[in-house]
Amino acid sequence: MSEQDFREETPEMEEKKVETGEVEDTNKDDEYEKVCFVCRRPERTAGKMIELPNNICVCSDCMQKSFDAMSNGQVDLSQLMNMPGVQIFNMADMEQQIPKRQKIKKKKEGEERKPLVDIRNLPAPHKIKASLDEYVVGQEHAKKAMSVAVYNHYKRVATDTMDDIEIEKSNMLMIGPTGSGKTYLVKTLARLLDVPLAITDATSLTEAGYIGDDIESVVSKLLAAAENDVEKAEQGIIFIDEIDKIAKKKNTNQRDVSGESVQQGMLKLLEGSDVEVPVGANSKNAMVPLTTVNTRNILFICGGAFPDLENIIKERLTKQSSIGFGADLKDKYDKDKTILGKVTTEDLRNFGMIPEFLGRLPIVFTLQGLNEEMLVQILKEPKNAILKQYQKLLALDEVKLDFADEALSAIAKKAMEKDTGARALRAIIEEFMLDIMYEIPKDDSIGQVTITEAYINNTGGPIITLRGQEVNRIGNGA
Ligand code: ADP
Repeated sequence: MSEQDFREETPEMEEKKVETGEVEDTNKDDEYEKVCFVCRRPERTAGKMIELPNNICVCSDCMQKSFDAMSNGQVDLSQLMNMPGVQIFNMADMEQQIPKRQKIKKKKEGEERKPLVDIRNLPAPHKIKASLDEYVVGQEHAKKAMSVAVYNHYKRVATDTMDDIEIEKSNMLMIGPTGSGKTYLVKTLARLLDVPLAITDATSLTEAGYIGDDIESVVSKLLAAAENDVEKAEQGIIFIDEIDKIAKKKNTNQRDVSGESVQQGMLKLLEGSDVEVPVGANSKNAMVPLTTVNTRNILFICGGAFPDLENIIKERLTKQSSIGFGADLKDKYDKDKTILGKVTTEDLRNFGMIPEFLGRLPIVFTLQGLNEEMLVQILKEPKNAILKQYQKLLALDEVKLDFADEALSAIAKKAMEKDTGARALRAIIEEFMLDIMYEIPKDDSIGQVTITEAYINNTGGPIITLRGQEVNRIGNGA
């Protein structure tokens, strides 16, 4: 820190800064009521303030009290603390400084532990799926599998039976290429059920004690999502993305701190155990309070792209069918688009997931890679589709926005080239819409804009219709 930083600022310096626009105009202070530095009462209730240096104001009552304290001879510490400018280290103040995010929600007295999702009101699987349909395009199998699993899970939570027949946890493993909607499905589901959700990346997790997040930090995140309400968190959903990245490393003689050992470390969590988690922070340290969360009723969903898994499946299938009379041609499965759907736990084990880990994720399903047609649907069909969002924005300016069908296909084609699934769509659309959103509000007479294929392919402009029905073309804004 330079010497300058320590120098006290004089009023002249303040003024200079104001002139140069460096700080907010402090002269406007008189727009605010003065507040007593000691009792915090405003001028309105405490009466005229006595102004002291450093912009401190004290009401006459408090000033009087301070004089009394001094003239009483003996200095009473409790009164001294009420004197302006005198600050004594006070533990009570320290306590108040603990931020809310590190405090656990109080349980109201007499309140019973009740499930977040009421079993009588729990929507049946077909209803859950119907709600998912409104947002998620395609992925029929995944939506169905998920709806049933979630239904069973919350039925288990709501009844909370611990008799002979204990219902198994419905933790899930989702396999699907990037941008196919894994995260989106989970997010939509959590929103529909109104349960807290924590999303985490398996790549950031390491075995406790190593650089990175402890495995238990995922529970801490969920607690934060549940606004530090432990009971709410205990019925939430944890989504662990990129789970394929913690596959067992092959042929390594180093300690595998972010692979197999993370899988090992997660076993207890997945199954259900009491974990001590830091409140309002990612790691345990002396400054953070701890609390205990039981993961028995937390639904764990793991997702990953599992590259190369297709080859493992193909290899197994070819091996199986190349024996005996029914021997198939070697490349029979090369063009099979549904190959990922034939996955078995054996394939996943070959990929590097340990059997104990897989055993705790009894529900395995796959998502398809998105094709051009699905991308077009994603653009226009879901409840909060990107196109609908733009249409709504322009409708506020009383302009109608239309997309020609060929334009949508052209956008989908461009997105397919990027190979990141639906994720590329938004970036592409935003690029084209920037000019439109910039130009349209300039001209009040524009009534309708139609985005054409030519505009998307940079060979022409959108069709602009003026309110008087004239058709005009503005140049390609690019
Ligand atoms: P990932 O499978 O990699 O987790 P995401 O779920 O993050 O992919 O998808 C990225 C974005 O793409 C989502 O936010 C969503 O808007 C869109 N998206 C992906 N798949 C679908 C789908 N099937 N239906 C609707 N939107 C989708």
